[in-house]
Formats: sequence, structure tokens, C-alpha cells
Amino acid sequence: MSHWLQVAVQTPAHSGVAGPLTYRNALPLAPGTLVRVPLGTREVLGIVWAEVEHPPEGWSEATTRLVAGTLEGVPPLSAGWRSLVAFAAAYYQRALGEVALAALPPQLRDLSTVQLARRMKARARKAAAPPAPAEASAPDGQASSNSIALNDQQTLALQQFHSKPGPFLLFGATGSGKTEVYLHAVAELLARDPAAQALVMVPEINLTPQLEARFRSRFCALYGEDAVVSLHSGMTNPQRLKSWLAAHGGAARIVLGTRMAVFASMPGLKLIVVDEEHDPSYKQQEGARYSARDLAIYRGRLDGAKVLLGSATPSLESWHHSRPATADDPGGRYLRLAMPGRIGNGGFAKVRRVDMNHQPMKTVFSPPLLDAIRQRIARGEQAMVFLNRRGYAPVLHCADCGWKSECPHCSAFRVFHKIDRTLRCHHCGFTERVPRACPACGNIDIAPLGRGTERLEEHLAELLEGVTRPDGTPVRIVRIDADTTRLKGALESQLAQVHSGEVDVLVGTQMIAKGHDFRRITLVAAINPDGALFSSDFRAPERLFSLLMQSAGRAGRDAAFVAAQDSASEMWIQTFHPAHPLFEALKQHDYPAFAGRELREREVAGMPPFSFQALVRAEARTQEVAQAFLNAASAAAPALAAQPGLGAVLARVTRYGAVPMSLQRVANVERAQMLIESDSRMALQRFLAAWQDVLRQTRAQPAHKGLIRWAVDVDPLAI
Ligand code: ADP
Ligand code: ZN
Ligand code: ZN
Repeated sequence: MSHWLQVAVQTPAHSGVAGPLTYRNALPLAPGTLVRVPLGTREVLGIVWAEVEHPPEGWSEATTRLVAGTLEGVPPLSAGWRSLVAFAAAYYQRALGEVALAALPPQLRDLSTVQLARRMKARARKAAAPPAPAEASAPDGQASSNSIALNDQQTLALQQFHSKPGPFLLFGATGSGKTEVYLHAVAELLARDPAAQALVMVPEINLTPQLEARFRSRFCALYGEDAVVSLHSGMTNPQRLKSWLAAHGGAARIVLGTRMAVFASMPGLKLIVVDEEHDPSYKQQEGARYSARDLAIYRGRLDGAKVLLGSATPSLESWHHSRPATADDPGGRYLRLAMPGRIGNGGFAKVRRVDMNHQPMKTVFSPPLLDAIRQRIARGEQAMVFLNRRGYAPVLHCADCGWKSECPHCSAFRVFHKIDRTLRCHHCGFTERVPRACPACGNIDIAPLGRGTERLEEHLAELLEGVTRPDGTPVRIVRIDADTTRLKGALESQLAQVHSGEVDVLVGTQMIAKGHDFRRITLVAAINPDGALFSSDFRAPERLFSLLMQSAGRAGRDAAFVAAQDSASEMWIQTFHPAHPLFEALKQHDYPAFAGRELREREVAGMPPFSFQALVRAEARTQEVAQAFLNAASAAAPALAAQPGLGAVLARVTRYGAVPMSLQRVANVERAQMLIESDSRMALQRFLAAWQDVLRQTRAQPAHKGLIRWAVDVDPLAI
């Protein structure tokens, strides 16, 4: 007698197998049980999805393979977790097994049942040892002794949070104490409910150390060292497995992580915080292209957990969803909590625009900005200068024949990195030594064109030559970008130099503009932010505004320091378009004005959040093949109208023609995309689900055998 089980396993993408596979087992297995099952010639990890009474048609004991073993000691994944994964797979148009297995720590897939059992035993031994002498008395409602008393606006926000179901959008200025509100919300939850768990998400790993330190110092004394765990891609596989097991077993009360953490198995989940919810890095950019922020909202509903999104510059989607009710609009489904003031009543950085039309040609640092930086250094304050481009120069150029350092494999230039004298493609990685002479004409006078952070740092060092700090020592500059932080621990040590005051000027990419709680920076400068003002991507202004507002928020975070210095914090913008409304709104620190205008424009143009989009991307050796595939699949779509209910769906969905992607060729692969749009999320979803088969059939036709791959991106961030 066999039990028939549907088991989710990782099947190859687009194999056409979207659902779980059928296996049998002598004993019943609860849904959510982790098992090892044969797949082809291998044995792989699987998750029991359901037991079915009868084998599928045509299946028999003889043709159905047996489950090879169960992962003893790992409790089954909950129904809520399985619903989350199933929803994500359906919504983002991927196979269930792919999403489910990718949501588990890699080592769980790789370890044999024996290896895992050994690990679990070791953990159990450790856990049985007497716990670290935590504050012996149970937490009594009030959080730990190092808790900070909230101010009025924080108290009010927290009161609303407690009295309503949410979801909430905490719209709090930079430095208004949002993190402190998260800490209190978590503290109160954990104290009230001994089984409760909280998930706290941050956009990037580079922000986790500081936040982790804050959470650890607040909670480890109360709940033990294991109470706070992290989950992000910067961890080793054994670390990730350890954190995951702690969360899954309930020992971890708080999980801090990046977007992947939205899938953490947390049986006691009662609160989800999404910090800097506007950040694009919450959207996964490969495989299942999920939005961790959107899934957090869904998961909150599934698990009965409160969801708290926070930002000083919310995404226009969240802003729209949290609009208050009016006479003719019932309002959004989120509740907006506002914290407009800064801690210590610190002022916001004064925004100063430098009109670059009135500066000498090729000016990099305008004289007034340079002067302001010098003054800050002389007073022992710090300045931060950012430019969103790393490397020395984006292009190397021959003035004689016009040669440029194009990448032979991509439709992009290779970037000049002076430090190791290389030309590197930031898209495919192709790297070569800088040629001694122009490869086209032999001219030895080839020169960098434009600048990146490496050149900016070099230039600034020349301009600040001889400038000294109050103690008479020479000015110190540090650069922080993806190049300087490649080595493990490099970012932490560079940030520590800033925090300790060892450096005076910080040069970097947007990496430094986000989230960090710098205490002594009083001047922030955006060297050349104009690029995004006229981008073809309709989300570019939103991203620029939030980046500039966030950057401005790095200045003057310590009101007492600024006051003691008798100083005022400033945000400098060098621009050729000083009167642009985006900069006007920035000057007033008026996010609502900016958001209101953008939303009106989007409503008129029928763009998100007033419409819903998906992109289908195709890759091939030639652009024609990539586009032909998309256009053929689109041309075949009307036949879907024959299926029940799909006629009405098709009528509400617009399919645009295939076009090259803005970065058309990467690593010798041509890329094309097709935009699909609807005024109804449901119609778009139903269309995509039905169209999957058409795409697969089209792909199978001989005419399209040159196609390399295709993929759907639902709610894409960049068009
Ligand atoms: P945000 O997350 O909004 O940028 P933070 O929570 O990081 O702001 O707070 C900014 C700084 O102010 C931090 O150093 C924090 O410790 C401090 N802070 C926050 N709330 C309070 C408070 N109620 N009283 C005193 N200091 C506070
Ligand atoms: Zn040349
Ligand atoms: Zn390349």
C-alpha cells in the first residue's frame, strides 16, 4: 500500500513542469515535510506539497518512484509558508518548485540526510547547554534597559500602529527616528508574546551591520545571543543554514535580512518591517523576479502579521496606497503614519543649487562648493561627495581617429580603471590592460573622457592639497564604492573610519547615500545628478528624488553636534537645470509635493500605479530572432479568446511591439523586450498565466530555435 505524494522539486526552468511531481511513500508524510527524492539520475531535495488519494491518471506503483528519505529533525514547513511560495510562483510566472527550493538555504539542498542529521544533533547539544546568563528576570512589558524614550511623534506613530490592523506606511523624515520605532514595535511584541517572531528587512547587505548592532545590543541581553539572526547573500552557506534553522525552529525571535528573507520560514511571525521600502533592491532581478516588499504585504495577510513599511521617500505605489480618504475617494488600503520632524529638532540640510551654466567649461567642483568643503574641514566637520559612476572614467577616447573603448561583446563602453590600468566592462566583465596607444590608429595620446569616483577622488585630493584639519594634520579622503569594498570587511572598516572621524571627506557612489547614521557629516554634495532628469525610464525622477533626499538626510543627523559647531548642514546640487521642479521640491524637502505631481502625471499617462505592467524579455544571437519570437507569441495570443473568460481578459490587455532593450547587447547576446499592460491586475495575471503556454509553444517552433531564453518580469522596475 502506497501513499501518493505531490512533491515540489527544482525542475529546469521552462521544462513545462510547473507543478509538483508525484512520488510514493510507504507511510503518510505531512505536507511541508522536507524529503529527498530521485529526479532523473540524481537525488534532490523536495518539499511534500500534498498527499493525494489516487495516483494521477496513467500512473501506477510500478512507474512511480519512491521517496528516498525524509530530513529528520526539521519540522514541516507551515501551510502559510507554502501558500506564500505558491502565490509568488503564480504571480511572478515561475515554476512552483523553482520558487520553493530557491527559498530554502542552499545547504539544505546540498547536504545528505545523514550530514544534516549530524548538524542538527550538534545544534541540539549546544542548545541543551545552559543558556548564557541573560537578564534572568523575564522581560516585563518594558523593553531592555538600553531602550530610548520615544518622543511625541514616535509615540503617536506607535500608538496608531498598535490600535489599527495596517498595513502601515511610516512616512518619517530622514533622522526622524524610524528605526527606533521599529525597535520599540519589536520589543513590545516579543515581550507580550513569548512565541512571537519579527522579520525586519533592509534593502542592502551594506546596511545590515549597523542595524544588526542596534538590534543585537537591544535584544541579545534579554533573549540570548541566538535571538537575533541575519539572512542575506553576504553570508556563507553554513551561516545561512544556521540562521534559517533558528528561524524555522522558532529560537530566533528576530530575523534581519535583505529581500530573500521574505521567504524565511518563521512559524511565530507576527510583525514584518520593511525599512526603506522604496528601495529598488527589494526587487529580485533574476529567476523569479519577485518584489519582497509586495510579498511582505501578502505574507502579512496570510500569517496574520502586522506589516510596517518605512521610508522618508516612499515608492509612489505605497504613497498612493496610503492616500487618505476624501469625499469622493475611499482612500488607500494602507494607513499612513507621519513623522515629519527630526530627532533633537535638528533642521534639514539647506539645499543649495549651483547653476553649472555659469561655471567655467569642464568645471567638476564649482568654486563655491569647493570653498564650502574647505570650511567644513577646517571646522572639523565631515563632507560627503557622491557621483553615481564608479571607475576612473567611463570611456577612453582617441581624439585623432575617434576610437572609443567600446566593449566588443556589449553595446556599452568599457570603463577605465586607473588603479590597475584596466579597461573593464561593467556588464560582461571583459577586462583588458589599457592599450599603450590607440588600437585603431596608433596615436599614443588616448585620454579618459568623463569621470567616475576614482578620478573624482584624485581630482579632489589635488584641489584640497595643503588643506588641514583643526589639529594641523593634512585632510584625509576616503572613497567607498563597489571597487573599494570588494574584499570582505573592507566596507565595515571604511565606514568605521568615517564614524570615528578619521576621515574628513567621503567620496562614493549611491552606496554611501543610503541609510547610514553618520554623526558628523554636515555637507553632502551631488556632483552631477542631471542624467536622470531626462531619462526614458518613467521611474528615473522618482529614483533621483529619493536618492537626493536620502543623501541630504546623511547631513546634520546629530542636531547637538551641528548646534555645538554653530554650523548648519547643507546639501549641494551641481546642475545645468537649477529651476527643474524636482530640485524645487527637494529644496523645500517636500516629498508630498513631488509625489503628488508625479502621480498626477502617471494617472494622465496611464502608468503604474494606475496601470499594471509586465515585460517579456527574449535573448538571442541576433536582435531579429529575439524580436521575432516575441512578436510571434503576441500574434498567437488572440487565439486564447476561445478559452472560457479569456475574451474579456484579452480586451483589457495591451501588447506592445517588441523593441530592443536599452542595453541591447550583453556578452554577445542580443536582448529584446515586449511590454504588456492592463488597467486591471487581475486581467494581466490571467492573461500571463494563459499566455505562458503560447510562449512555450512558440519557443518550440523550428522558426525560433535560435532563441536562447525568455522570461517574464511582472511589475518591472525599469522599462
Ligand atoms: P531614521 O531611521 O528615521 O533615519 P533613527 O531611528 O536612525 O532615524 O534615529 C536617528 C538617530 O536619533 C539615531 O542615532 C537614534 O539613536 C536617535 N534617536 C532616535 N529616537 C530617539 C529618541 N526618541 N531620543 C533620542 N534619540 C533618538
Ligand atoms: Zn585613434
Ligand atoms: Zn561587455
